[in-house]
Amino acid sequence: MISTKAYAAQAAAATLTPYNFERRDPGPHDVLIDILFCGVCHTDIHFINNDWGFSIYPMVPGHEIVGRVTAVGDHVKKFKAGDMAGVGCLVDSCRECDYCNEGLEQYCQGGNVFTYSGLEKDGKTVTQGGYSNKIVVDERFVLKVSEKLSPAHAAPLLCAGITTYSPLRHWKVGKGHKIGIIGLGGLGHMAIKFAASFGAEVTVLSTSPNKKDDALKLGAHNFVVTKDEEQVKAVASTFDFILDTLSASHDYNMYVGMLKVDGTLICVGLPPEPINTPAFNLVFARKCIAGSLIGGLPETQEMLDYCAAHNIVSDVEIIPIQKIQEAYERMLKSDIKYRFVIDMASLG
Ligand code: NAP
Ligand code: ZN
Ligand code: ZN
Repeated sequence: MISTKAYAAQAAAATLTPYNFERRDPGPHDVLIDILFCGVCHTDIHFINNDWGFSIYPMVPGHEIVGRVTAVGDHVKKFKAGDMAGVGCLVDSCRECDYCNEGLEQYCQGGNVFTYSGLEKDGKTVTQGGYSNKIVVDERFVLKVSEKLSPAHAAPLLCAGITTYSPLRHWKVGKGHKIGIIGLGGLGHMAIKFAASFGAEVTVLSTSPNKKDDALKLGAHNFVVTKDEEQVKAVASTFDFILDTLSASHDYNMYVGMLKVDGTLICVGLPPEPINTPAFNLVFARKCIAGSLIGGLPETQEMLDYCAAHNIVSDVEIIPIQKIQEAYERMLKSDIKYRFVIDMASLG
């Protein structure tokens, strides 16, 4: 077994504390990775607090993992020791259903396995995530990370990156489209970079007036403060798409009102409360509310390769693991520029 150092939550809403545990020895198809950096996603906060009701403790969060391969199993083809590798939100899936066969493992109907707080296919081993110094993952669920990318800045691509890239590609957002991005946090700042890179006109819809300069520097063309009624009125019926990254409950109607006829509100943020909007708001202008979950393995690799080719990475604030609670508090206050990334060397 591989002894592993980590930080874990021992119970719902608990402060993270040092935690040692064992990972399996690499099997024939497994890759052993020394984790260098792990991004801090708002999903980690939802999971620690059991916001969605399916958390398992003790829990080592973290699903934006970049590190160096140190060993590979006999049948591994894609990786060798020394390679830079990434792991995102998934470490396994049924590998047999139509969605797995299409490379849409995130929508696996046979049961996919999340990187932490999930159950391995043996039905009893609980998965533990990237706030740790080592991880063992089947090569099908490991991504190649270009040496051109700084590992700390690339880590958030494994969740914030793919979660915004995938819907923009699925709905073919690009030249001639106007898109609104709700929330300038981890997901939001990646959404701006991708949407601008694909040629769309990007407007950030934010509750924080002080983020305007940053939004424009990140590639947005316009900035709307959503607490200002006049600014909200000015963008009524103007967007082809809106990408909603909000983690907290909010008024969906205000944003549906900003869509053109045939416009689509794409939800990626996951507040625990239901989406509540009168049918009239959709029916009278053929509007659509849709959702999107991370991305499959082939598309995640495509996204990483796109980032290497176009020099796109996350804007990060690197922290030692000992500062994780402070990072969570700042995220809840929306005080983030724009992703915290943990330097795993701080585990000692
Ligand atoms: P984040 O970095 O904390 O950003 C969230 C942003 O929402 C904030 O920066 C803030 O932007 C805005 N916001 C507005 N009201 C808020 C409030 N009351 N509290 C906190 N933020 C508020 O979060 P993230 O990591 O981007 O994640 C966002 C959501 O996406 C979470 O619910 C997460 O679980 C979900 N998620 C979904 C997927 C998926 O596959 N669909 C993948 C990853 C994450 P402004 O200051 O600009 O208003
Ligand atoms: Zn995430
Ligand atoms: Zn499947």
